[in-house]
Amino acid sequence: MKSVAPGAWLGLLGGGQLGRMFTMAAQSMGYRVVVVDPGHDSPAGSVADDHLCADYLDPDALAELARRCAGVTTEFENVPAEALRRLAEHCVVSPAADSVAVAQDRILEKRFLQAAGLGTAPFAVIESEADLDKVPDDLLPGILKAARFGYDGKGQARVRTRDALREAFVAMGGRPAVLEQMLALEREVSVVVARGFDGEVRTFPVAENRHANGILDVSIVPARVPEALAQTARAQALKVVEALDYRGVLCVEFFVLADGRLLANEIAPRPHNSGHYTIDGCVTSQFEQQARVLCGLPLGETAAHCPSVMINLLGDLWAAGEPDWRIVLREPRAKLHLYGKSEARPGRKMGHFTVLGDDADATLATAASLQSRLLPTADAAARSGTSS
Ligand code: ATP
Ligand code: MG
Repeated sequence: MKSVAPGAWLGLLGGGQLGRMFTMAAQSMGYRVVVVDPGHDSPAGSVADDHLCADYLDPDALAELARRCAGVTTEFENVPAEALRRLAEHCVVSPAADSVAVAQDRILEKRFLQAAGLGTAPFAVIESEADLDKVPDDLLPGILKAARFGYDGKGQARVRTRDALREAFVAMGGRPAVLEQMLALEREVSVVVARGFDGEVRTFPVAENRHANGILDVSIVPARVPEALAQTARAQALKVVEALDYRGVLCVEFFVLADGRLLANEIAPRPHNSGHYTIDGCVTSQFEQQARVLCGLPLGETAAHCPSVMINLLGDLWAAGEPDWRIVLREPRAKLHLYGKSEARPGRKMGHFTVLGDDADATLATAASLQSRLLPTADAAARSGTSS
């Protein structure tokens, strides 16, 4: 593939924060970015060189992208695979529609992971009420996960009994789902990996992830796991991109069990929240890597400069009004990233900050202290509740 030089237009389907960070990375290398997003005021749309306010399948918007752009990428997996398919007839598209389709459906995804030789949590596919009776006893207690359109723990129900399972399946509208055995997780880790059109691959250092209420809260890098386990995780991420013949940036989320086993949880066919540390912590960020793949450039080095800890800033922090950002900005090795979202709702990802340090544990302590100082006090939240 001929490489695309700076100055060219790149297209992006989706206007969220991942798209915003891609846009900023591509712009800093001199590319121009046009975003397609149906919202008027999206995080990516507001920094892009141009914004087409349209649905992802809008024929005029797709035609405009095809006419103007050297390459088109996406920032979320629920973008219609059909839009990518249509664009691929006219320009370079990364990732490919087929790769995205695998990650859009937990049933396909789990079967793919197993076929690629990765372990997964024990699971059963439930496509109709009749399948409920066939579920083996040892999958309970378990987590029922809708096959499609889940994110941040949405479309999931924790169930202890068969009755609860049936209830949850019906409550989710009887849509196809998987029931996964509830595992005792020792840790969660993830690996971001990039693969170019020429097959060049690079993995980023392994992140250790902690969730709160089903949403990523903290990523610690390097993950505090044995080196051999980190190597296995990186090798498995490479297996995934090879098996998908993937072109672009992808993340594999893993569970680590107490006996040291590594199980693949899911694939995100895009940069990932647990890879945000790469912006400040690595030679090349996951977003620059995404632009490099799309433009047919060689991949950048992925080595980390130093340990780092990323903390997500959710809308809950706004309960008493705008948090006092000086708390983060005064810390010389902290980097604040806000996504420009005007409305702060509980659970909504509004930004993140990354703290760089010399040792993962000490950096985590610094980051956790900043995080706790940002929390609204109960008094302030109550005052804000009555005054608004
Ligand atoms: P996201 O898009 O944020 O990754 P998601 O909605 O796709 O979330 P999962 O990654 O499947 O959901 O699950 C979210 C979190 O719930 C996991 O990171 C893990 O902490 C917990 N979890 C999921 N499945 C299991 C399981 N089988 N056993 C124990 N914990 C689990
Ligand atoms: Mg997940």
